[in-house]
Amino acid sequence: MYTSLVSRLLFPLQEQLKKHDTVRVRRKLEETQWWDADRIESLRIERLRALLIEAATHVPYYRQLFEKTGFDPAKVASTSCLQQLPTLTKADIRANSQALRHAGARGLVRSTTGGSSGEPLAFFIGAERVSHDVAAKWRATRWFGVDIGDPELVVWGSPIELGAQDRLRQLRDKLMRSTLLSAFDMNDANLDHYLRSIRRARPRMIFGYPYSIAHIARHAQRRGVRLNDLGVKVAFVTSEYLYPHQRDTISTVFGCPVANGYGGRDAGFIAHECEAGGMHITAEDIIVETLDASGAPAAPGQPGEVTVTHLATRDYPFIRYRTGDIAVLDDQRCRCGRCLPMIREIQGRTNDFLIATDGTPMPCGAFTYLVREIAGVESFKVVQESTTLTRIWLLVGDGFDPSALRRLEKGFRRRLGEGVQIGIECVDHIPAEKSGKFRYISSRIPVPAVVATKD
Ligand SMILES: [Zn+2]
Repeated sequence: MYTSLVSRLLFPLQEQLKKHDTVRVRRKLEETQWWDADRIESLRIERLRALLIEAATHVPYYRQLFEKTGFDPAKVASTSCLQQLPTLTKADIRANSQALRHAGARGLVRSTTGGSSGEPLAFFIGAERVSHDVAAKWRATRWFGVDIGDPELVVWGSPIELGAQDRLRQLRDKLMRSTLLSAFDMNDANLDHYLRSIRRARPRMIFGYPYSIAHIARHAQRRGVRLNDLGVKVAFVTSEYLYPHQRDTISTVFGCPVANGYGGRDAGFIAHECEAGGMHITAEDIIVETLDASGAPAAPGQPGEVTVTHLATRDYPFIRYRTGDIAVLDDQRCRCGRCLPMIREIQGRTNDFLIATDGTPMPCGAFTYLVREIAGVESFKVVQESTTLTRIWLLVGDGFDPSALRRLEKGFRRRLGEGVQIGIECVDHIPAEKSGKFRYISSRIPVPAVVATKD
C-alpha cells in the first residue's frame, strides 16, 4: 500500500520534528537517481553491510541467527550475499516481535498492516525509516513537477486514517493543503458533492486507489462535469492493480498522466512510476528480490514473490522480508535516463475491492480493518462469492473471543448492504487460491462486469 499511510499519518509530524532529515534524504536521493548502475550498487553494498553489522551487534534476533548460521556480515561484498540468509516471514516477525528491536532504538512507532496481500501484522518503525520512505515518495512526486506541499486531492479509505480525520485534517489543511474524500462513501449523492469539492480545491495532484479515482472520473463523465481544466498535473495511484482502462479514464477526465506506486507500510516505498513510464525501484534504500516457490531467485522475466531488504531499518530491521506480492523484475534501461532498476509488472494485487449491493466499490482496507480489530485472529480469507454472499474464514489462536464474530458480521453488512449473507467459519487451515497464496481478500464478481454495471 505504498507509503500512503505512513507518510500521511506521520508526514505532518515528521515535517515538524525531523524536517532537516527528510529534506536531506530527499536531496541525496535526487542526486543518486542519476548515478550509473555500478555506483548505485556500491552504495547499496556499503549500506547493506552496515545494516547487517549493526543488526549482528544490537538486534537479538539477528545476533542469534548469524551465530547459528555462521554468517559474517563484515564479509558482505555483494547484494546477492543476502541469499545466504533465510527470509523473514510475517510469522517470524510475529514470533520475534521484541527480539527484532535494536537494543538502543528510541521512539519506535508501532504499526500494523494486513491489506489485500497480507495477514495481519504488527511491527515497529523508526524515525530513520520514516524519513527515507517519505523522502522517496517526495522524490517521485517531484518527477511530475509537483511538490509534497502542493494542493492535493486524496481519495482514501483507511479507517485508521479516517478515524483520526478531524485532527489530521487540521494539520493537513494547514501544512499540506490536502482535501480528503472517503473512498467508502461513493454513492451518487456523495459523488456529486465530490465533484464540487474537486472543482473548488483545484488540486495539483490526486492521490488514491485507482478504482476509486476512476469511479469519480466516470461519474464526472456521466454528469458532464469538466475536470480537465483545473490544472491537475498528475494522478498518483496505489494499493490496487491498475487496469489500463482505469488509467485511460483517469487520464482523460483529469487531463493528466497517471503514475502507479507500489509499496506498503511494512515493506516501505518499493517502487514508483517515473514520467517516462518506468516503474523504478527505490534502489538506494530497498533491495528487491523476486523468489520462486523454492525460495531461489526467480528466472529473468519470470514472476516471483517480492522480498525486500530495507536499508533504513536499523531500529527494527526488515531483511529479506517476504511481502506476499508477486512481481516480475525488468532488466531494461528507462528512457528517463535513471539507472534505478525497474519492476516490469506487479501481478499479486487484483480484485482489491468488494462490491456493495448498490454497486458501490469498497476498498479492501475497509474489511481487513474489521478483521484485524479482532484479537486472536492469526490469518483470514474473505471471498465475495456474489453480491448476496460473502464468506470469511478465520484462523484463530489465543485471545480469540467468539462473541466478536457478531460484530464482524455487522461490520461487513454495514459496508456491503444489510441484505447480504455473511458466512463466517473458524478453520484450522486457510484454503489457498489456485493462483497463489497471496490473495487474502477477493471478489468473484468479474471486474469487467463490475465496471459495466457502474457505467
Ligand atoms: Zn524512468
